[in-house]
Amino acid sequence: MANALDGTVALVTGASSGIGDATARSLAARGAAVALVARRRERLDALAAEIESGGGRALAIAADVTEQAQAIDAVERTVAELGRLDIVVNNAGVMLLGPIEGAPTEEWERMVALNVNGLLYVSHAALPHLGRAAGGDPRGVADVVNVSSVAGRRATAGSGVYNATKFAVNAFTESMRQEFTERHIRISVVEPGAVETELTDHLRPEIRERLRGSFEFERLAAADVADAIAYVVTRARHIAINELLIRPTEQVR
Ligand code: NDP
Repeated sequence: MANALDGTVALVTGASSGIGDATARSLAARGAAVALVARRRERLDALAAEIESGGGRALAIAADVTEQAQAIDAVERTVAELGRLDIVVNNAGVMLLGPIEGAPTEEWERMVALNVNGLLYVSHAALPHLGRAAGGDPRGVADVVNVSSVAGRRATAGSGVYNATKFAVNAFTESMRQEFTERHIRISVVEPGAVETELTDHLRPEIRERLRGSFEFERLAAADVADAIAYVVTRARHIAINELLIRPTEQVR
């Protein structure tokens, strides 16, 4: 039987771990050729080899998307080497929690640079290609999925700048959606709750200590979120899943 994404090309940022890795596998299993974008080349090469050995097609692209030239190059290499671009998953992100008061502002800069600027640069570079994909076979539609968070809907003490970046992702997604939806480029936001990944590895030790015990329930697996993203991008041409909020069942807020 034909796969839903046969003949398409997807670019996934942050594909070297967590949700991005799982999403790349999931889209490849549905027939998409996948461009894997992140900084850790060895991880990307290993994932590409796994996807290829399973019969899929993958291209590892080591890039830091906070540098606009590298974001553009990642998109252009994808199109040059895989032939087109139908789906972009803007997933790369960093979460450096902690009080605003006395925060190392370098952490704020890292979050804004990746969660906001990186997403903007990749989207800007990808849109002309997505427009071409939406105008023809095999699907007559293209997709951008922006990975936000529950933190993009609800601000709390201790995550001010992370909240600000994810609120920015939600606002930009809605604005983009209105601008592109009539051209059949669907722009969606996926908002996970707590997911078991490397995301919290980058917290300062004292912040990690303070958060200990906050998530003592069964968290989502990266594959659960990948499944939600795959759902979004495999709908029929006339169906746009604009927003998808997905929490572990036991997560209250
Ligand atoms: P991970 O830390 O596992 O993944 C983050 C990814 O981003 C890595 O692949 C990393 O790769 C990549 N990355 C970091 N910096 C850059 C850069 N400058 N350029 C390109 N890629 C970069 O965490 P998750 O999988 O959890 O995070 C994915 C997304 O999900 C993020 O946007 C996060 O905010 C969001 N999210 C996660 C939740 C969770 O509980 N885990 C909950 C809600 C949302 P590398 O270091 O190789 O560059």
